[in-house]
Amino acid sequence: MKIQDLKEKVLRGENITPTEALFLATQPEKEELYEAAHEITLCLASRRADFCSIINARSGRCPEDCQWCAQSARYHGQADVYDLLDKDECQRQARLHEAQGIGRFSLVISGRRPSKELLNRICDTVRHLRRHTSIQLCASLGLVNEEGMQALHEAGITRYHCNLETAPSYFSTLCSTHSQEDKIETLRAARSAGLEVCSGGIIGMGETVEQRIELAFKLKELDIRSIPINILSPIPGTPLEHQPLLSDEELLTTVALFRFILPQTDLRFAGGRKRFSKDTQRKAMHIGINATITGDLLTTTGSSAQEDHQLVREAGYVIDDTLFDRLHLWHPYTSTSRPLPVYQVTRAEGAVLTLQSGEQLVDGMSSWWCAIHGYNRPELNQAVREQLSKMAHVMFGGLTHEPAINLARLLLPLVPPSLQKIFYADSGSVSVEVALKMAIQYWQAKSLSRPDRACLARKQNFVTIRNGYHGDTWNAMSVCDPVTGMHTLFGSALPARWFAPQPRSRFGGEWDEQDIAPLRAIIEDHASELAALILEPIVQGAGGMWFYHPQYLVEAARLCREHDVLLIFDEIATGFGRTGRMFAWEHAGVEPDILCIGKALTGGYMTMAAVLASNQVADTLSAYAPGVFMHGPTFMGNPLACAVACASVRLLTSPEYDWQGRVRRIERQLKEELTPARDLPQVEDVRVLGAIGVIELKRPVNMARMQRRFVQEGIWVRPFGRLAYVMPPYVIEPEQLTKLTQGLIKTVKE
Ligand SMILES: *Cc1c(COP(=O)(O)O)cnc(C)c1O
Repeated sequence: MKIQDLKEKVLRGENITPTEALFLATQPEKEELYEAAHEITLCLASRRADFCSIINARSGRCPEDCQWCAQSARYHGQADVYDLLDKDECQRQARLHEAQGIGRFSLVISGRRPSKELLNRICDTVRHLRRHTSIQLCASLGLVNEEGMQALHEAGITRYHCNLETAPSYFSTLCSTHSQEDKIETLRAARSAGLEVCSGGIIGMGETVEQRIELAFKLKELDIRSIPINILSPIPGTPLEHQPLLSDEELLTTVALFRFILPQTDLRFAGGRKRFSKDTQRKAMHIGINATITGDLLTTTGSSAQEDHQLVREAGYVIDDTLFDRLHLWHPYTSTSRPLPVYQVTRAEGAVLTLQSGEQLVDGMSSWWCAIHGYNRPELNQAVREQLSKMAHVMFGGLTHEPAINLARLLLPLVPPSLQKIFYADSGSVSVEVALKMAIQYWQAKSLSRPDRACLARKQNFVTIRNGYHGDTWNAMSVCDPVTGMHTLFGSALPARWFAPQPRSRFGGEWDEQDIAPLRAIIEDHASELAALILEPIVQGAGGMWFYHPQYLVEAARLCREHDVLLIFDEIATGFGRTGRMFAWEHAGVEPDILCIGKALTGGYMTMAAVLASNQVADTLSAYAPGVFMHGPTFMGNPLACAVACASVRLLTSPEYDWQGRVRRIERQLKEELTPARDLPQVEDVRVLGAIGVIELKRPVNMARMQRRFVQEGIWVRPFGRLAYVMPPYVIEPEQLTKLTQGLIKTVKE
């Protein structure tokens, strides 16, 4: 047996045995052991150091006889004695810690088991803290039953701390008033109530090396993810006052053993470390300590946040610079209590994002389809600057301006020729709302045109296809895919729409006539209640990254004409060249009655969208009461957005830019470099169209883990469901694109 063999074993994901741990503990080559543990830490433990802090919310007068403790009423330790701290003092300290970049704050009280009355007061304090701060709250209150844990959880505690203290075989030697079983029962109760748990111990209390190993295995058995490691500070007046001090070597060896036994847990430096030199503390971190309790401890002085940050950095860990963000900001589709990691971007240039950490990522997302020209584009910057010096905004009611007029002049030649009217909206989702409202108003107006057409007023519903995505506002949501969208969540609050299956005939494949049959059936049966069919032409984006056959659009358009149903194309994602045509309708050559565009409209600079409609639609709804289209957002036609949109469209359509050449080159390279992935066992399908490359996996991805791997590979890709896809800015260089595809494939393989 060798240290290296055991290290390899752990790195392979296997567990070492207690005998093997003892073997490690007794090896004379300490440095080799430390380095091996360091490698395990590097590969398997979190590189993001975790800091927490505690407040001794009630101190002293404890009836228990734990021999190490200065707070026991039985000994003569000099711990302060005070009753529960008031709420405002707790709040002051919580705020202070949060401001110092500490993410967790634990309320600790002395005593065996808090009375109901005390627990109520603690819950009050917790609610008070939760109302006024956002730091995550932990509690360490001794023995608590499940009912008490539930009360704590409801008040706002998310993690409960209760140390096992020492090996099961040694505990009763040091404490006779309660058992380790009582503590384990408390941890179990915390978990049942939905709390995370934190549990560790104190070393240097006279236990043997075997017993330290025993403690680590017990913690492993209990699946503890956060383990405070304290070192005994023998306190005068306690039975352990003459306990010999733990040596540096014993400390470091213990850390190494814990890392071998618990490769993925947070090993948290807690009390008693102050006595060791900075070098020794740094070395312990190098070996395996990746978390700390920062600030003062219960009865010993600790380290300041600043000192700890520096130590941790020197030991090679990353400090989470997004703590404030994590505690206060909502990101798209995330929880505020368990947010996915975010990466702070400080600059973006061309196809490269620069993170706060200095890492540079090749952008594969164009910031959700919109930054087609990459970032920091001089022409677009210039357009914003020039417009800014004239006016940032004026209302569009009763006023107009050059940027709005120029943008329409530039857009009309690019869209289907029958679309002659343009309505500016604030975002893609809003433009979908506008399109749906237009369709309803159209049939209302039509019903007024002749007495025999009154029944047309009933045309108020919509039909769409499954796996679509049209935005997150109310009615946009109602036409999103009912399974992957938010229908289950919002239930009957959403209007019920008609859904045809997703077209199965692939783009570039054979057309299967059966594909249109279900849509035909719906339209034939329900035309009298249908105002419009809405769909994303050719490419379904956020609903599944699927490319379908143009013939579907030809047939769908025919059905709409035959049965008096309007046709709405949502080209918010597909517009401005992404699919290899300026707009995706061109693949089929059928014109809609209403068209939504957005995302790349401003080259990714500002939020703006537009709805284009035919004269037929516009004239009809203007001819009958109320005679106006009923929509008018505050920021309609925002001059800054219009000006940068003009610059973006001009750039895109300038001959030197050659967008078609660019997209074609990206398409060719994506096909070449992604197609080999089709043979991987993890991969279900690979598809490429224009500047979109999709790898569909057999199983759903773990977004947080995959995202971290992509960042390590130096690329920015955001997978969802079973899909990892790229849609880079058109300005991406071939070498950058290769980095993107290779990083993507490498990560998928893992
Ligand atoms: C993104 C998107 C929307 C919604 O646009 P927002 O600007 O996010 O509101 C609507 N439809 C499609 C096809 C989209 O891709």
